[in-house]
Amino acid sequence: MKRILVTGGTGYIGSHTIVDLIENGFEVVSADNYHNSHPEVLDGIEKITGVRVKNYAIDLADADATSQLFVKEQFDGVIHFAAYKLVGESVDKPLAYMRNNLNSLINVIEGLAAQGSSNLVFSSSCSVYGNADELPVRETTPRKEAESPYALTKQVGEDIITDYCKAQPDFAAILLRYFNPAGAHSSGHIGEDPSNPATSLVPVITQTASGKRGSMTVFGTDYATRDGSCVRDYIHVEDLAHAHTLALKFLLEGKVSTNPELFNLGIGEGLTVLEAINAFEKVSGEKLNYQLGSRRAGDVVAVYADRSKAEKQLGWKPTRDVEDIMRSAWAWEKSM
Ligand code: UDP
Repeated sequence: MKRILVTGGTGYIGSHTIVDLIENGFEVVSADNYHNSHPEVLDGIEKITGVRVKNYAIDLADADATSQLFVKEQFDGVIHFAAYKLVGESVDKPLAYMRNNLNSLINVIEGLAAQGSSNLVFSSSCSVYGNADELPVRETTPRKEAESPYALTKQVGEDIITDYCKAQPDFAAILLRYFNPAGAHSSGHIGEDPSNPATSLVPVITQTASGKRGSMTVFGTDYATRDGSCVRDYIHVEDLAHAHTLALKFLLEGKVSTNPELFNLGIGEGLTVLEAINAFEKVSGEKLNYQLGSRRAGDVVAVYADRSKAEKQLGWKPTRDVEDIMRSAWAWEKSM
């Protein structure tokens, strides 16, 4: 049985990925300091899988604590989720984002390398493309200037891994560029952390509908898009989670050579903010209280994926659409 460290294991994508890994025969250890999650997530994972996952509540930006973890536990691979992830917050706190996201990545690489292991899956983001020259974006589409400090940490993170793999050809890595993960697990036991106030679109929508917030704002209606609001590619978190299992298998089968392999993980279709709101209203039967507002700093205009590479090489195909996303997110919100 292969033993995998999932950093950020009690976070949103991390917890869904742990479930998928366990369901596919992996043994999982988690490292998460609960910065943006809480220990009860481990209960949710246990309810679904019957497995109590061990979590190390350490700060991965702390080099000593991280190296001790890698001395204590041996891994066949690491999926590195742990990071600060809010575009808007990163604009206000660029140093905190750089320090946390880059130090933790370096510490994890060093820990893994110190045990003579390899096989790193890194959570990257479609934000590395910036305002891309072509849509949909392919893995070969050149990255443009980062629109936020968050996006810059993902660009630099990718570069750190790429340079390290060149220097250490035995070290194999996959960089997964997520589009917009949303929705919740079909079991109802795990979902996005309900911390208030949410900033990502789908939980903002569900929190508005449930009355946790009075109203919401559509950030920008004067973009050059179908209806003036930004276009994103919303991917169900369970589909996204499964891509990690497939990526890990790809690595463990030795299919990645010197350069890290890049994969876009999106559904492959762009949806405007207003279309997303309409999809929610349709599946929930709720009328959403929203107003049209000004642009949010750090937002790109439009981004959606060409996902053909992940389908061809990993055999990954999303099976859920935006209505499934809204339905599961709404069920999760109402259960809280
Ligand atoms: N958005 C919005 N109102 C909100 C939250 C988000 O209009 O209260 C928009 C945001 O401007 C972006 C899209 O929804 O165009 C997705 O934003 P999110 O923060 O979910 O993800 P991002 O693409 O920034 O990573």
